[in-house]
Amino acid sequence: MLRDQFPGLNVTVHGKPLVYLDNAATACRPQRVLDAVQEYYTRFNANIHRGVHTLSEIATERFEGARESMARLINAPSARQLVFTRGSTESINLVANTFARERLSAGDEILISYMEHHSNIVPWQLLCQQTGAVLKVIPMNERGELRLETLDELITERTKMLAVVHVSNSLGTINPVKEIIAKAHAREVPVLVDGAQALPHMAVDVQDLDCDFYTISGHKMYGPTGIGILYGKMEHLEAMPPWQGGGEMIAKVTFERTVFNHVPAKFEAGTPNIAGGIGLGAAAEFIMDVGMDKIQARDAELLAYATEKMQAIDGLRLIGTAACKTAVNSFVIDGVHPHDLGTVLDHYGIAIRTGHHCTMPALQFFKVPGTARASFAFYNTHEEIDYFVDCVQKAREMFT
Ligand code: PLP
Repeated sequence: MLRDQFPGLNVTVHGKPLVYLDNAATACRPQRVLDAVQEYYTRFNANIHRGVHTLSEIATERFEGARESMARLINAPSARQLVFTRGSTESINLVANTFARERLSAGDEILISYMEHHSNIVPWQLLCQQTGAVLKVIPMNERGELRLETLDELITERTKMLAVVHVSNSLGTINPVKEIIAKAHAREVPVLVDGAQALPHMAVDVQDLDCDFYTISGHKMYGPTGIGILYGKMEHLEAMPPWQGGGEMIAKVTFERTVFNHVPAKFEAGTPNIAGGIGLGAAAEFIMDVGMDKIQARDAELLAYATEKMQAIDGLRLIGTAACKTAVNSFVIDGVHPHDLGTVLDHYGIAIRTGHHCTMPALQFFKVPGTARASFAFYNTHEEIDYFVDCVQKAREMFT
């Protein structure tokens, strides 16, 4: 069974078997990822790229092999177009502070959407404060779907960047990013896609999407924490100035001037998260071996099952009911505070997330300060969903 490959699921909480429904916050890792990380530290522990000794060569080969695996997973034209970062947050900040900053003057516009994670809002706000650019927002409807009919008007000759989330972490909405990118490109606006929540659930093909940038968080796609990817079109990456200075990103340094390294090393100053990178490569291989088709089908099936069961709970309102959704169900229950619900469920061994999920503007739209969120992964089971629904019922009875 696939589930047996995830030792992190096989624990007890308050004496109850864990039911892990907080996958959108961070997923569990398969043994293969844990082994890859451990193998690095125990069998070829060395720094990469600069060493001529055997262990350094093996570590370098594994780290660069991981880049290749990730490139295959997202169908990038070349692994060189993948920059290792700490995750989606760092990837977005990198683009904001290099590519976008260079293109912006006072009065220019950056377009984002109403359902962005704070990490795809705040970097752009900071940039606007520093450059005098203006942040504009694509609205959404009451199901949590973007109102794309507004795009033609929202994109103006001052729009210099569009940044949009592929899959919303709080609403579960899968945005039609290919269509958004085509519309933006027709007006010569480059697009960054925040893909943090997409890869754990669905196939991503950056060439088919034609996105200018795509960001990935390793820990959401069954990989280690503190590692992620920024994919970019080669012409952008080559033209962009470096972001952080230091070792590795240079070809030659004198006190007078520095010649920068080629892409992607130009953006990877300092010793990277070597173990994390190797673990991420193992996660990519794991996903490809399981098969995205299988993951996607299981996801859809779990979402349908959970949605039906949850909707039968008295007073429960789902927040985010888009026609095209991934396996994330945010909800509120009349008379029950989400934090209280989360605390009671924890005592039953169930892990869910409560609060604003780093998407305060999206929740303000629904006029709720926070929600409870159950987010599923392919290793979750119908029995777990039944148990979760029973425990939510019990908690509701306790509070109402
Ligand atoms: N974007 C979305 C949609 C997310 O869900 C998250 C994390 O929850 C992020 C960005 C930030 O990812 P990270 O913390 O891995 O940088």
